[in-house]
Amino acid sequence: MRFSRQPIVVQRGQRKNKPHILFKLFMVIGTGLIIGFGANIIISSEMNIRKSFVRDNPVLSALDKLHRPALIDYEDEQGFTEEPDFVEIEKGEIPETLHTTEGTVQRGDSLYSILAAQGLSPLEIHGITTQLDGLFSTRSFRAGQKYSVARDDEGNFRRFTYHQSRSITLHVEWDVVSEEFHVSKEVQDYDTRTSNLTGIITSNLANELQRNGRYGLITQLENVLSWRIDFNRDIQPGSQYRIIFEEKWLNDQYVGVGNILATEITIRNNTYTAYRYQDPQGVVGYYDEKGDSMQRFFLNRPVNYSRVSSPYGYRVHPVYGTRHFHGGVDLVAPTGTPVYAVADGQVIFRGRKGPAGNMITLSHANGYHTQYLHLSRYAVNYGSRVRQGDIIGYVGATGVATGPHLDFRVIRNGRLQDPMQALASSSAAQSVASEHRNDFLAKRGMLRAQLDELDIQLASAER
Ligand SMILES: [Zn+2]
Repeated sequence: MRFSRQPIVVQRGQRKNKPHILFKLFMVIGTGLIIGFGANIIISSEMNIRKSFVRDNPVLSALDKLHRPALIDYEDEQGFTEEPDFVEIEKGEIPETLHTTEGTVQRGDSLYSILAAQGLSPLEIHGITTQLDGLFSTRSFRAGQKYSVARDDEGNFRRFTYHQSRSITLHVEWDVVSEEFHVSKEVQDYDTRTSNLTGIITSNLANELQRNGRYGLITQLENVLSWRIDFNRDIQPGSQYRIIFEEKWLNDQYVGVGNILATEITIRNNTYTAYRYQDPQGVVGYYDEKGDSMQRFFLNRPVNYSRVSSPYGYRVHPVYGTRHFHGGVDLVAPTGTPVYAVADGQVIFRGRKGPAGNMITLSHANGYHTQYLHLSRYAVNYGSRVRQGDIIGYVGATGVATGPHLDFRVIRNGRLQDPMQALASSSAAQSVASEHRNDFLAKRGMLRAQLDELDIQLASAER
């Protein structure tokens, strides 16, 4: 199937005009430099020849994979050899309009026969049914149920949607970027119930949540409180916690955790409380008692990483002694580790990009862009709006990578920033707007009362 990608250049790339500068130097200093300049050209063209030679030669490129750092580490994943004045931010294609036709499953129809009638090959259908294993039973494919098929402008199959029941929908989607079929199950219309957890930490908070079968809360808790509490260092055994949160249920079956509504952690004599509040304009955030944001413009990390394998900025190649520039920070984490949006924003690029592998670019307020490289999988679509802390993808080693890691980049007004510094110096997110202050105080008061009620339960449970 065809797929065209038309990059839209947001900011014209403007590399340093090196020959021009060298030319000026040449004029000023005189012929003494001719020899050095000439030698420079010879060395750099030799490198280029060697690089293209290696790329074109299958034996050498296989050897090169084994000794990668020695030969192609001169450029970083976005092709930077030195700090650029401006970064080109490539935008993905504009989402196209799909044309949908509806259908009803007839007696004797199978998933196979319907997809085959749409022009999918037996091999493609086999690939799809393999993915369906454990997700969907072919027996739930029943006469009378509705389905729809979406095609693009050129009539290419793009999506099959089957409505298994009022609450369960199955999607088989052609991903134009990876050029493969993706199968997903959508569970809708679940009930939201408010639940709570409270207790005293005996080992650590993650274990505590695990023990209560609500481990899914840990990321949200960290995202809400991470600018005030260091979860590894500060939360000691004996710390008290209270969490009021939503749960998703489907026909009396627990599906997963929803939003945290309020939480309070008491470490020795210090209490940290956060309330979720959505103002009438739809702005959602976590705030302290006074209505100041618990969050910062950026999360303090895009991934739970074990170490930094390659920092941002210039580094000298260990073998050749050449300097090259690394536009991101490499954070080591196992394949499949969730990657979070560091701020609210929109997905403006999602796709494969040479040595960067599977990459996502988010655009944020205040002129910021962030980029996430080498992903194994995506969790968001092109064009989607994302909230701070949303999972956007998973760590991988796609593109040029010696092992699974996230190359994370921050760009402000077209200029690369030191990503760790940008996160660390992130300014506080907006507090509750003054015109919504009374509304916030009223809602906070109700949550406060619920938290206090948990206190009583905690006290009586201890007796
Ligand atoms: Zn990197």
